Amino acid sequence: MKTVISAKDVEELLRNGGDVKSLPADAILTPAARDLLHELEGYGTARSNGGPKPAANGPPARPLHSKSPKSELDAFFNSAYCEELKLQLCEVGRRLWQRAYVDGNGGNIAIRVGEDIALCTPTLVSKGFMKPEEMCLVDFEGNQFCGQKKRTSEILMHLQIMQRQPRAVATVHCHPPYATGFAVAGIEPPTCMIPEYEVFSSVAIAPYRTPGTPEMGKLVADLVDQHNTILMANHGVVSWSHINVEDAYFKMEILEAYCRTILVASQLGKPANTMTPAQLQDLLKIKQSLGIPDPRIGLKEAELCDNCEWRPGVSCAVSPKPEILEGPDAEAEAAVQAITDQSMSGLDHNRSQPS
Ligand SMILES: [Zn+2]
Repeated sequence: MKTVISAKDVEELLRNGGDVKSLPADAILTPAARDLLHELEGYGTARSNGGPKPAANGPPARPLHSKSPKSELDAFFNSAYCEELKLQLCEVGRRLWQRAYVDGNGGNIAIRVGEDIALCTPTLVSKGFMKPEEMCLVDFEGNQFCGQKKRTSEILMHLQIMQRQPRAVATVHCHPPYATGFAVAGIEPPTCMIPEYEVFSSVAIAPYRTPGTPEMGKLVADLVDQHNTILMANHGVVSWSHINVEDAYFKMEILEAYCRTILVASQLGKPANTMTPAQLQDLLKIKQSLGIPDPRIGLKEAELCDNCEWRPGVSCAVSPKPEILEGPDAEAEAAVQAITDQSMSGLDHNRSQPS
């Protein structure tokens, strides 16, 4: 009897360090598993025999790498498949710009397309108006093989993430204002408030270094085994995805919406409600099943939602300004005092009466 393989089975295999090449060649793949394997083929880990055959505009039959002949790299760069990936970079760039997550020439995006090569956005171009022909093909050292424009100056960070995190198929870097505000303040967003954030994001802060330097990339890469969204102190955010570039972009939408929401919640004059450790535990189980990393996975309930450990120094509620409180409070206190005095005197009076 043939084995049925689901996307979850494939993810489980990858999580345990397995190789998709070990899947039985005659296995029946669910549509989601077929899609996932198709994605994986994009960076050369798919089954070499059996399984779904690449479509006419699918990835190259032979996985590419930095030592592939230049003619093969050129052919790939000009293929219909690569054209599709270039369009995806342009589309994600357009969304970043439309949502004001990038400014000027800021932000950059990369997609892994082989063992140690990636397609990325060019330097000095607004991400809102990129054209497919402006994209660049580079190796993991940042050497450029193809593309008329020069590659982004921040590519090293993307490549260092991909090197350190083999599951990273795409990376997005931008400067969304609310999340970047947290990065500038050096505050990790508090947790246990919104399910989407808990399930899809795993956030940490990397210290500031000059953008584009290997040192900056290293500090970010140091965090990507446990986190998929890194706040870069005094700079912006970078995310990676094990699915595709749109999913890496979704991490930005989720983080930015979250930072915005908790900022609003902190201004409503009442401490925000948080979920219980048991409720968080449920979400972490979903997160684990989706193959999304989180250092809290596997902890006991009692160890979750520990503010000191998970959000050091974060005070979510903004204290009201003293001058605003002073007026009404003084009045209220006087009123309370008057009522108390009255009742006390009434009480004393009553007490003096014989019962
Ligand atoms: Zn930047």
